Formats: sequence, C-alpha cells, structure tokens
Amino acid sequence: MPNVKGKVVLITGASSGIGEAAAYRLAERGAHVVMGARRTDRLEAIASEIRAKGGSAEFRTLDVTSRERMEAFVGYAAGRFGRVDVIVNNAGVMPLSPLAALKVEEWDRMIDVNIRGVLHGIAAGLPLMQQQGFGQFVNIASIGAYSVTPTASVYCATKYAVRAITEGLRLEAGGDIRVTLVSPGVTESELADSISNEEARQAMKEYRRIAIPASAIASSILYAIEQPDEVDVSEIIVRPTASP
Ligand code: NDP
Repeated sequence: MPNVKGKVVLITGASSGIGEAAAYRLAERGAHVVMGARRTDRLEAIASEIRAKGGSAEFRTLDVTSRERMEAFVGYAAGRFGRVDVIVNNAGVMPLSPLAALKVEEWDRMIDVNIRGVLHGIAAGLPLMQQQGFGQFVNIASIGAYSVTPTASVYCATKYAVRAITEGLRLEAGGDIRVTLVSPGVTESELADSISNEEARQAMKEYRRIAIPASAIASSILYAIEQPDEVDVSEIIVRPTASP
C-alpha cells in the first residue's frame, strides 16, 4: 500500500459520482478521507458505509463558491489531523446549452463552482502545504479542457481554465508540492442532471451510452496519490474506449 495509507485526503464534491467513488477507493486503501459537498445527508451515508468497512471518513458541509467555507473545510481537516496531504478539487457543474440560449445565470454558476471553487481550494490549501513542506493538489478538469463542442462553450472554458491554473500551480509550487490534473471523458455520474436545455440534454443522453464508471476515474486519482513522493504525475486523461 505505497504512499496512501494514513494520508489526509480532502475531496470536494464527494456526495456523488467521481468524488464519491474516490472517497470509497482512497478510504479502502487506508487514507483518512474528509469529504465536502452541500448534500450533507449523502455525505453522512457515505461516511457511515466507509466506517462500517473499517475505513476513516469525515465530512463537512461545503459550498466551494464560498472562500470562507473552503477555508473552514481545510481548517477543520488540519485541526483534526494536524496536516493535509492532498486536496482533490473535484466539485463541478455542467448545465450545457448553446450560447444563443443566453442562460447567463448558468454560465455564472459554472464559473463560480468550476473555476472559483478550484481557486478557493488552492487559496485555502497552498499556504498550509507550503508551511508543511509537502502536499498535493489533484484538480479534476475534463476532456473539455482540450477541445470545445457545441453547447459546451462555457463548460469547456471553465475546464480550460482549470487546466491552465493547474499547470501554473505546478510550475510555481514546485519543490515538495505535487500537482496533478485528471481529465475524464464521459463518466457515469449525476453531472448531466443539471442540464436545463432540451437540445443539450438529448445530445448528452446519446453520448452517455458509452460512459465509463466513476470508479475508473477514482483509480486514476489513487494512482497519482500513491506514487512515491519524488514522483509527480502531472496529467492523466481517461476516456471511454468507445469515445470518438
Ligand atoms: P456529479 O454531479 O455526480 O458530482 C458533482 C459533485 O460536485 C457533487 O458531489 C456535488 O455535490 C458537487 N458540487 C456541485 N456544486 C457544488 C458546490 N457549490 N459546492 C460544493 N460541491 C458542489 O458529477 P461528476 O462526479 O461527474 O463530477 C465531478 C467532476 O468531474 C466535475 O468537476 C466534473 O466537471 C468532472 N467531469 C465529469 C465528467 C463526467 O462525464 N461525469 C467528465 C469530465 C469531467 P452537492 O450537490 O451535494 O454540493
């Protein structure tokens, strides 16, 4: 069990999909997982199941759009365990629509959760990791961080931003802090449930037929974390085999 057992791993957006799968996988391998999301009832159920299997799991209510709440989330883990080894900035939303539909509030929500949420995770975690002299960020982007598709302009823009921020962080943080970008292709989760535009919803329904399980992405997150300290996995892209 190299390099995962005993690590304190914070996961944002752990109440479903990839974050939930990562919590189970990492706890199974001996990490102390600290989960954050808004649906606390879900987190409570996941934490109970992890503990019933002998794992270590805690949770806090978290809205990543609030810098204060993110500070409190990271502060809670640091206070409880005396350190933070990994922050998985995973929380995200994807209400797809054509630009001409002018769903400006949905654009704002994607910017707030997908970009500001990641920045808040960095703002809360970086000073602590610099002080500790170790740490790792695992930021979840998307294949939408590499190319744009119709109805996904704003979503892809947020993921291009996550990719740029992650690369900048890697270059600047250097030294003892590891920085990893994980970019999933279409994956089974609740992500598409927030699509209010009928055209985008239908297109996504077709696309989701080839979705891979969230556990596949959890395995990539685990891979990046379990490497020896001197090994920094910078970027992982995981697609369904059937992906175009
Ligand atoms: P889910 O919708 O299943 O999970 C999203 C998670 O984000 C939920 O736990 C949700 O929790 C949380 N979340 C949303 N808004 C907030 C907020 N304001 N504050 C805190 N948590 C929030 O989708 P996925 O598991 O698929 O998504 C995880 C990440 O993977 C996202 O960044 C997504 O963009 C990315 N991704 C997913 C792909 C896919 O095909 N599924 C493909 C590429 C990337 P709650 O509502 O309880 O707050």
